[in-house]
Amino acid sequence: MENNTEINSYAGFTIGPIYEVLSSARKTRELWFASYFFSWFMEKTIEALSTNGDIDFLLPYVEIPFNPNHSITGKYHDRFILQSSLNKEELFNEIQKASDDTLNFFVDLINEFVSKTGANYLKDADKDSVKNILNSYIQRNFIVFNTESFEQSNIINSINIYLDSMEENRYFNTGILDKSCFICRALPAVIEANVWVKSNNYERKELCPLCFVKHYAHKSDKVAEKIGMSDFRYPTVLDIAAVELLTEEVKNSNPIFKDYEKDYDLDVIKQALYETCEEETVDSLLKKAYFKYFAIIQADGDNLGKVLGKIKKPEGIANFSKSLFDFANEAEKIITFYKGYPIYIGGDDILAFAPVAFKESDGGTKTVIDLAIELSEKYKDLMNKDMLGTSLSIGINIAYYKFPLSLALKNAQMQLFGVAKKVDGKNALALLLTKHSGHQIGFNFQFGSSDIKNFSELLRKTLAEKIDFPHSLHHNLSRFKTVIANIPDEGRLKAFFENNFNEPEHSKYTSGIDSVMNYFKEVMFPVSTGQRFNCVKEILSKFAFIKFLRGEK
Ligand SMILES: [Zn+2]
Repeated sequence: MENNTEINSYAGFTIGPIYEVLSSARKTRELWFASYFFSWFMEKTIEALSTNGDIDFLLPYVEIPFNPNHSITGKYHDRFILQSSLNKEELFNEIQKASDDTLNFFVDLINEFVSKTGANYLKDADKDSVKNILNSYIQRNFIVFNTESFEQSNIINSINIYLDSMEENRYFNTGILDKSCFICRALPAVIEANVWVKSNNYERKELCPLCFVKHYAHKSDKVAEKIGMSDFRYPTVLDIAAVELLTEEVKNSNPIFKDYEKDYDLDVIKQALYETCEEETVDSLLKKAYFKYFAIIQADGDNLGKVLGKIKKPEGIANFSKSLFDFANEAEKIITFYKGYPIYIGGDDILAFAPVAFKESDGGTKTVIDLAIELSEKYKDLMNKDMLGTSLSIGINIAYYKFPLSLALKNAQMQLFGVAKKVDGKNALALLLTKHSGHQIGFNFQFGSSDIKNFSELLRKTLAEKIDFPHSLHHNLSRFKTVIANIPDEGRLKAFFENNFNEPEHSKYTSGIDSVMNYFKEVMFPVSTGQRFNCVKEILSKFAFIKFLRGEK
């Protein structure tokens, strides 16, 4: 704070209902903009407040002078916490004004869009109707305190408790619905616009302001300026899953691949592949199953409440926020390197889409497991400088490209909060694959374990066709679960593999069989004997996953 170093007040602000708005998105690009919208709302409000020399942000980290985010990744959380030399009433008024101005900014943006996109307001609706809907649906809750109300040592956790309870007590008054929105069916429709419907044509549909802006975001100059890119369309799940197939040559072969509105399925890509490549090459490519599946990655820092409780001084909290901010920038780079697309990265809080695997130009293969490992390592690297003891837990949901988006998101969230965060010591990765048939494979790892290291290597080598297994391997090992769990030492493990895989046709799989044996050795022997049967079962699920992704041969 420039003007006055005495702190007189604290405030916490929360915006919502993000989860509800995200869950009504039918497509990735609607999901992306829905999330981006909230992040942008927070950014604008924070930007306005940051110009006030009497205000200091504790969470998130805010650069002074303010440095706007010009990327496709929403980087602002749904909360901020600040301290100020203003008195309680002054601070309250400042926050109210910044947040109202932001709301008006978005009302103007939507209004401008209506005329630019050839849409029109429905009868009796106008710009004010947009404002009323945004005002009642977007929940902006904040709380301001005098310094004396708090013990300095636990500001963040105390304010978070208030913000939690404000979020729990939210209710929406959507008013009496004359017409509900064609897309979300929840908010009143006030705008009529062209929407691409399945039967290969556009139809005039009645939309609420939020679905309208979600649907048309890629056409807006203001959005283009904000994200620093024009004509950006967040890719569909198939574009992400099949990234390896969608080469420039394939994309140039059919205008549908560059159309912002139209959707296509895998058959269209297959056809384009056969038209542009040798039949044999395409056949061998398409054997792999992973092109049809996309991954959703959701991550969250472990024990942050406890960690924040340990930091006694506001400067310490500001440093901590800066580390989270640095991590977010690095995480964005890692996700992009793995050909993924973030939805949001607010510090430790990540939601992103990525391909399950893809081949690099040098022939090597990268997988979503490698992506998770890199995120976890980068987080520890940047956050544990001061030995704070936080780690990153990650949930990954892998689903067929036609799987409903909202359910896929729910599954990813469940993997993170229902499975990974429940692992003893957290710091875990939980993964669920739902096959097109409905059959599911799920398992988890602890980061830094020899299990995850061995698994990621085995998966990578198998998908890159550097090693291969006999068709019967999984079946064969499954029959002997109990036997394997009772093998006492390395020598006997080796003998077991030699006895079971000694047919002449097994000879060409020697390196694959050795890798599997080595995996059992490294992962099963360190586990106590009582836990080995479960450990063997888990290993077999992991092999079933690898077997499925490489495709049947
Ligand atoms: Zn709607």
